[in-house]
Amino acid sequence: MKKTALVTGSTSGIGRATAERLGAQGMHVIVSGRHEERGDTVVAAIRAAGGTADFVRADLRDADSARALATEALRIGDGRVDVLVNSAGIFPFGATADTSEEGFDAVYGLNVKAPYFLVAELAPGMAERGEGAVVNITTMVAEFGASGMGLYGSTKAALVLLTKSWAAEFGPSGVRVNAVSPGPTRTEGTAAMGEALDQLAAAGPAGRPGTADEVAEAVVFLATDAASFVHGAVLPVDGGRIAV
Ligand code: NAP
Repeated sequence: MKKTALVTGSTSGIGRATAERLGAQGMHVIVSGRHEERGDTVVAAIRAAGGTADFVRADLRDADSARALATEALRIGDGRVDVLVNSAGIFPFGATADTSEEGFDAVYGLNVKAPYFLVAELAPGMAERGEGAVVNITTMVAEFGASGMGLYGSTKAALVLLTKSWAAEFGPSGVRVNAVSPGPTRTEGTAAMGEALDQLAAAGPAGRPGTADEVAEAVVFLATDAASFVHGAVLPVDGGRIAV
C-alpha cells in the first residue's frame, strides 16, 4: 500500500527537497505551506517525476491551524498519514531586548506549537496501525549558545526534547520519532544571508554551507525503513559544526 507523507514547509528549501525525494520513493506526498503557487510547482515536479502529490495550504501558528492541516491530510490520505516531516519554520535572529512579544509568539507558534499539535493529531493513528515515522527539523543552534539566536535556538531545543519524549511515548507502538539538525544550508529562506551563511559555516570541518538536498537525504533515511532501529535520534547534518 502506498504510504502518505505530510511534509510541512515543503513549498521551499529543505521541506521541498524532502517532499520530492519521498515522492520519488513512491509515497503520496502532501505538500504544505502558505503559498499555493509555490506548492503547485512542487506538486507538479513530483507528478512529472512519476509520483503522487497534493497541496494543502496551511498558515501554521497554533493548535487550530495544525488540527485543520491534519484533518485535511487525513482526508487526502484516506484516513492515514504514515510519515510526518515537520520542516516549516522561521528563523529570525536578533537581540533579546529587541524582540517583541508578537515576534516571540510567532516563532514559538510555528516552530513548536504547530509540530506539537500535528503530532498530537497524527501520531496516535500511526500507533494504532503499529507503524509510522515522524521527523522533526531542528538546528545546530539548538545545541550551543549563539548571540542573537536564543529565541530561534530555544524553539528548536524544545523540539529536540519533544523528539525524545515522543520517541518514548510512541516508539513502543511502532512509531519512530527522530530529528535532523542541519547546519547552515542554502535555501530560499537563507538566501538573504549571503556571505553571513558562509561565515557561519566556515567553523565546521566541511567549511561550507550544505544544500537542501544533502539535508533531505538524511530526513528520508529517518522517515523510511532504512532507519528501522533508529528511535529518538537527533542526526546532525551540519558539516561537522557541532562536533568540533
Ligand atoms: P525556507 O526555505 O524558508 O522554507 C520554509 C518553509 O516553511 C516554506 O515552505 C514556507 O512556506 C514554510 N512556512 C513559513 N512560515 C509558515 C507558516 N506560518 N505556516 C506554514 N508554513 C510556513 O526554510 P529552510 O531553510 O528550508 O528551513 C526549513 C527548516 O529547517 C526550518 O524549520 C528551519 O528552522 C530549519 N533549518 C534551516 C537551516 C538553514 O540554514 N536553512 C539550518 C538549520 C535548520 P510558505 O512560504 O509557502 O508558507
